[in-house]
Amino acid sequence: MSASPEQQLRAYVDYLRDLGVYDLYRREDPRTLLPESLRTTFLAAKLAQPAPVKTVSPRAQVPPPRVAPPSTLRTAPPPVSAPPTSYFSLDSETPPTPSELTATMPKPKSFDELVPLPTLLVPEADRTAALEAVRAEIGDCTRCPLAYGGRHKIVFADGPPTARLMFVGEGPGADEDAQGLPFVGKAGQLLNNMINAMGLQREEVYIANIVKCRPPANRTPEYIEATTCSQFLIKQIDIVRPEVIVALGGTAATYLLGVKQSLASLRGHWYSSRGAKVAVTYHPAFLLRDPRQKGEAWKDLQRVMAELGLKGPQRSAATS
Ligand code: SF4
Repeated sequence: MSASPEQQLRAYVDYLRDLGVYDLYRREDPRTLLPESLRTTFLAAKLAQPAPVKTVSPRAQVPPPRVAPPSTLRTAPPPVSAPPTSYFSLDSETPPTPSELTATMPKPKSFDELVPLPTLLVPEADRTAALEAVRAEIGDCTRCPLAYGGRHKIVFADGPPTARLMFVGEGPGADEDAQGLPFVGKAGQLLNNMINAMGLQREEVYIANIVKCRPPANRTPEYIEATTCSQFLIKQIDIVRPEVIVALGGTAATYLLGVKQSLASLRGHWYSSRGAKVAVTYHPAFLLRDPRQKGEAWKDLQRVMAELGLKGPQRSAATS
């Protein structure tokens, strides 16, 4: 059965979002999808596409990844977008103006900017208890709107408290929401393959998300949701103290590093967050939508393997 126009639009928007095209995806009301009346105007103006939106081939519109400059350890790169102006409402009867179409979300603060680095480090023997204390602090959390978006379980994290490597994704999906564990759906299976290809078992890495509750319809977490929930992930990172964090996808990179740039421009460099080195690569869900990028993701993981001294398979079949 072929996908409905709504499903096709959703897949297209997700694809662009993973590439770092954020503004197209932003909306005030998380319960709504882009109305039919605004679709053509919005997408045509944003993408300068003369053809009707429903017939646009997503892959045909995405420029090839840029070649990254030589790898060096970086702090968060400078923002490339304008300061925030305003959001537009999809419930409005009036189509958005060109200035509204360029509206941006506020530039988030990096995790290092949000909270000073800890002066006291949690001993290994106390890390499990410390993480349990963070989970207890979260409780049946209602601190952000995602508490009211139909979530079933808060997805805290998965992995040992002494992991050298941490993966940070965007947020739980349907499978994760049902099981209360991160990356257990199809994207999770691919992440497991990626981990195994690095010469590790899933049980050896720590996996968490920017937000711990499933966004409705798997939309991107809103700014207020991500920044509200980040306080807990920061504590988890400070307790686990991984040597390397891999940001999976644009949303994870955006909030970890306090940047808003395309994934292509972020990949291929080392960054720093909470004392760990940070690498940026594609989200497994994106790789399921565009398997052509698996080789690129594998290059990112090979850099992480070299950093951690891991001896994994050398072939790009790692993410297949
Ligand atoms: S996403 Fe985070 S801050 Fe929001 S309700 Fe869930 S646990 Fe609380």
